[in-house]
Amino acid sequence: MEHKRMLQREHFTVGTSGPAALRDWYTNKDTGFSQEERDKLGIRGLLPPRINTLEEQGLRIRHQLDTKLTPIQKHIALFNLRQRNERLFYYFLLNNLRETLPLVYTPTVGEACQKFSHMFRRPEGLTITIEDKGRVADVVANWPQPTDMPRIAVITDGSRILGLGDLGWNGLGIALGKLSLYVAGAGIDPRSTLPIVVDLGTNTEEYLNDPLYLGLPRRRASHEEYLELLDEIMEALHKRYPSLIIQFEDWSSDHAFEFLERYQLKYPMFNDDIQGTGAVILAGFINAARISANAANRDVADQRILMVGAGSAAIGVAKQLMWFFRHHGLSEEEAKKLIWTTDSRGLITNDRGDKLAHHKLYFARDDNEGQQFKNLEDIVDYVKPTAIVGLSTVAGTFTEGVIRKMAEYNTRPIIFPLSNPTSNSECTFEEALKYTDGRAIFAAGSPFANVEFGGRTRFADQGNNFYIFPGIGLAGALSKAKHITDEVITAGAFALANSLTPVERSELRVYPKIERVREVSGEVAAACIRVINEQGLARDDGHSGSVPHEQLPQWVCDHMWVPSYDH
Ligand code: NAD
Repeated sequence: MEHKRMLQREHFTVGTSGPAALRDWYTNKDTGFSQEERDKLGIRGLLPPRINTLEEQGLRIRHQLDTKLTPIQKHIALFNLRQRNERLFYYFLLNNLRETLPLVYTPTVGEACQKFSHMFRRPEGLTITIEDKGRVADVVANWPQPTDMPRIAVITDGSRILGLGDLGWNGLGIALGKLSLYVAGAGIDPRSTLPIVVDLGTNTEEYLNDPLYLGLPRRRASHEEYLELLDEIMEALHKRYPSLIIQFEDWSSDHAFEFLERYQLKYPMFNDDIQGTGAVILAGFINAARISANAANRDVADQRILMVGAGSAAIGVAKQLMWFFRHHGLSEEEAKKLIWTTDSRGLITNDRGDKLAHHKLYFARDDNEGQQFKNLEDIVDYVKPTAIVGLSTVAGTFTEGVIRKMAEYNTRPIIFPLSNPTSNSECTFEEALKYTDGRAIFAAGSPFANVEFGGRTRFADQGNNFYIFPGIGLAGALSKAKHITDEVITAGAFALANSLTPVERSELRVYPKIERVREVSGEVAAACIRVINEQGLARDDGHSGSVPHEQLPQWVCDHMWVPSYDH
C-alpha cells in the first residue's frame, strides 16, 4: 500500500523537492519553472538560468524536430518529449496538428509499433498477459491512479495493427498514440487516460525469434482462454473504475465484432474500427448527399450506394450508412435495398453460385432476376449509383471508365476511395476530378494533397476517425455513460456532419478543417450526451442532463483540459 502511494507521488503529483520535480512528466516544466518555483522546489541551479514560456519552448521543439530526417525519428522525438514534459508535448501537438497527427498516429505509428520493443526506453501503460489469468484484479489494482481518475482506456490485443498484422505486445504503441489523440482532440486530461495491451502471445515468427521482443515469447492463446481472460479484464476494470469508457482498438475482425456484441450493453465501451469508422463515413456521406442532391435538384434521400469491397470495414460502414436512409423515414428493409455490395467476384447476389461468407449475406441482392455482374463498369451501369464507396484494399479499382460512368449518371458523383494507405486508394483525388470534369465529391481514407482544378482550390477530404472518437469518448466520460449505444454513435455522426461552417461548405468540403477538431468534438460530444440522457444512461447525478441543449457544446468545451503551466 505504502509502495503504491509512493508510486502515485512519483508519477502523478508534483515532486516536492529536488530532481523529482523534474522527473514527473506531468508537472515538469523544464525551463518553464519560475525562479520562485525553483526556490520552493529546491531545484535552483539544476536548470539553465533563462526562463521560457510554453510558446518559447515550442520554438525549440520546432527547431529540434526540423533536424530529424524521417517521420519515425520525429515520432521518437515527440514521444520522448511526452515522457519528459507532457504539457509542452500537447501544446506543440495542438498548435501543429496538421503536421503532428501523421507523426503521432497513422501512418507513422505503424512503424513505431513494429519497432516498439527495439525502441523501448521506459515502461508505460498497463500490460495484462494470459499468465495473469485468475489475478487480473490485482494487476488492475497496480495502476497508480485513484478510482475516480481514469476516464478513457484504449485496449488492444495487438492482433491486427493498422493492417500490419499480428504485432503482439508491440500493439501497446497504438493505445498510446490513440490516447494522445483523445487528449489533443477532445481535451481529455492526459492523467485520465489508460493505455492497455492484452498480451496473449503472438503468431509472428519474427517476434518469437527476436531476443529484443518484450512481449510473451509464445504463440497466441486459444479462443476459449482468450474469452475467459477478456471477461476477467472487463470485470476487473469496471469494478475498479466504474465510469471508465473502454475503447477497443485494432482487434482482429472476428474478435472485434464478437466482443462488441458481447460487451456493448454490459459495460461502457465501443469499438472505433467498427463504430468510429462507420460514423465518420456516414457524416461525410450526409454532407456529400446534400451537395449532390442540391446540384441535381433531387431529394436528398434519393441516393443509391455501391460498396466496392465487402470485408468487415465495408459491411460495418454500409450498416452505419443505413442510418442516413432511416433518418429520412425509410424502414430497415427499404434502406437496405438502396445499398449494393461487391467483392472480388462481382456484385453480391444470393444466386451467384458461390457460398457467401456470413457477413456478406445481409446485403446480398435477390432482385437481380438471375443476372450476375463481375465487372465494376457493368455493375455501375446496372446499379446507377449516386455514390461509390471503396473499401476493397485494391489500388486503382475505380478505373477511368468507372469514374467516367459515375460522371455520366450524376451531376455531382460521390466518390469515396477509402482503402488505406494512400498507395491502396481505389483512385487518386486528381483522377476523380479529371474524369468527372471537377464534379466529383471526394473523400478518401488517407490524406491526399489539395488540387488546383478549374481555377480554384479543391480540398481533399479525409474520412479520419479523429473527427469522431474523441467526442464520443468525452461524452461518455463527462456523463459517466452506462453504455455507448448505436444511437449515441449515430447522433455523433450527424453532429459531425452539421459542424461545417458556411465557408467550409462553400469550399465543397464534407468534413471540417482538422484544426477545428476541439470545437467539432464539443458538438459531437454534446449530441452524444443528449442521447445518453434521453436513453437514461447518464450516471452523473443529473449534471450533464441539467444543461440546456443549446449550451451543451460550450459546457463540453469548458470541461476540456488545455495544456498550460497555470494549472
Ligand atoms: P478485407 O480484406 O477484410 O476486405 C476487402 C474486401 O474487398 C473483400 O470483401 C474482398 O473480396 C474485396 N475486394 C478485393 N478486391 C476487390 C475488387 N477488385 N473489387 C471489389 N471488391 C474487392 O479488408 P477490411 O478490413 O474490410 O478493410 C478494407 C479497407 O478499408 C482497408 O484498406 C482499410 O485500410 C480500409 N479502412 C478505411 C477506414 C477509413 O477510411 N477510416 C477505416 C477502416 C478500414
